[in-house]
Amino acid sequence: MWKTVRINSKSKTITTEDYNKTYVGLGGRGLIAQFLHDEVDPTCDPLGEDSKIIFCTSLFAGTGLVCANRLSVGAKSPLTGGIKESNVGGNAAAAFAEHNIRSIIIENKPENSNSLYMLFINADGNISLEDASTYEGMNNYEFVENMQKLYGEKVSVISIGNAGERLYKNSSLQVTEFGTNYPCRAAGRGGLGSVLGSKRIKGIVIQKAKAKTEYPYADKETFMRLRKELNQSVIESSKTSPFSLVGTASTIDFVGPAGIIPTHNFTGEISDKIDNLKSDKFMSFVNKNGKNQHPCQAGCLIKCSNIVNDDQGNFLTGGFEYETIALCGPNCDIYDYETIAKIDRYCDDIGLDTIETGATIGVCMDAGVIPWGDTHAALDLCKQMGEGTDLGNLLGQGTEIVGKHYNSNRIPTCKGQAIPGYDPRGSIGTGFTYATTSMGADHTAGITLGPDDPTDIEAAVATSDTMQHIFAIADSMTCMMAMATLGGQLDKVALLYNAMYDTELNAGDLFAAADKNLLLEKEFNEKAGWKPEDNVIPEFFRNEPLPSTGRKFDIPQSLLSGIDKVQ
Ligand code: SF4
Repeated sequence: MWKTVRINSKSKTITTEDYNKTYVGLGGRGLIAQFLHDEVDPTCDPLGEDSKIIFCTSLFAGTGLVCANRLSVGAKSPLTGGIKESNVGGNAAAAFAEHNIRSIIIENKPENSNSLYMLFINADGNISLEDASTYEGMNNYEFVENMQKLYGEKVSVISIGNAGERLYKNSSLQVTEFGTNYPCRAAGRGGLGSVLGSKRIKGIVIQKAKAKTEYPYADKETFMRLRKELNQSVIESSKTSPFSLVGTASTIDFVGPAGIIPTHNFTGEISDKIDNLKSDKFMSFVNKNGKNQHPCQAGCLIKCSNIVNDDQGNFLTGGFEYETIALCGPNCDIYDYETIAKIDRYCDDIGLDTIETGATIGVCMDAGVIPWGDTHAALDLCKQMGEGTDLGNLLGQGTEIVGKHYNSNRIPTCKGQAIPGYDPRGSIGTGFTYATTSMGADHTAGITLGPDDPTDIEAAVATSDTMQHIFAIADSMTCMMAMATLGGQLDKVALLYNAMYDTELNAGDLFAAADKNLLLEKEFNEKAGWKPEDNVIPEFFRNEPLPSTGRKFDIPQSLLSGIDKVQ
């Protein structure tokens, strides 16, 4: 009963296909990898007619499993030149599931680049391409406001802002959030907003389904029993989790003093001002006019998100996360929450990845384009990206291109994508993931940071490998927060899977499926031209010791390049 909807952006045809039976049991990142492997030439131009952008719900979207309403977006990335999957919460995946849609594939490219369309799914499940030329050049918040006026307040929206329309390599897709209905959730990484922009599609707008949805459970009774047990385990672990009690910003309490948070364009210099960003300050800031513990999607029991309002009580931003704070804050010598929240809002509105943006601003400060810590100048750079000035258009192409433009020898990227909020010298296993994953520098591909983060090289490499598999499982099922608890109960998760998909899998089979997922991605990238010797960490991490520990990044290049031997 699951459907795949296929849109040809050139001919404007829409076809609805019964779910390919060989794909049953695939969802989220795993399904994205399979589609891209089967349908897209890895050597294609990511913004050309042979590329496709694919949206897939997770395996358990709509079923009430905790944090399972996750939407994966995938394409060949204009930023990394490889396969990319970026997943996001918000209310779109649940809306897809209500209409029994597992995936939407948008292909080809219109001849007339002046046209602009949007995909509309109405309450009866009818799907149409609507003229969206009125909304050309409109950013995400205004676009969503217009959609709500047209189609009702509860409408779910996936959209691109000016960054995606201008084909910036740093461009996100924004998704409306559960509860607030603001477009503050981002499929941020890899520049996928520009792929949708190249198809001249402004967004996907979905009304709540009128009909009650029936899901094809193989054994509904067992599924519901296991779901209840798994959900309860997440409720229990959340009671003491800082991610639930504070939010992901709580990470700063540990990585700040440890010098793992990026500061001053990844020098790692620790400032006393880091105290301005610790949990107690975050709680005061967020709860002054808004609140923490907000669920970004229906069925979230952890609530790591938040609502940030301005002093007039108007919504400023939501999903105000550690990564945004780290890259747009200390990495740019900015230590006040008010400015960082404003940068977050700009990025969500224009449709920019906050990690890439913070790293780009840091490189600009390092190059003397604007002074270190200058909050007004940092906000101005964001504005320029939104307005499309010459400088803004350069910055929108991402950290690596900007760094090369300014002849920087300290460009914090792997495979063209900015390194997120964990200095690879402070978590060498995470650094190994940055260098070796098919996703470019991406903590969500397998961060190893935690109480047991190994400092021994062999153990770090092994942990990275394990985490890359765990995260591949998570990316097909739930958000990372939920998987932190569910990952310890994979036998039960496998039984849940069996009760849904009529299979007889065990935890080992889930791991094997993740392995296949990773191999498909790797194969795609090899065909796209990636080579083992491209698995590098920027040289300055090998030359400059991290001030807090004195350690340089010291995993030998032979291990980074020879990942097959390690695995
Ligand atoms: S735990 Fe956080 S990321 Fe996961 S669904 Fe809830 S609010 Fe969203």
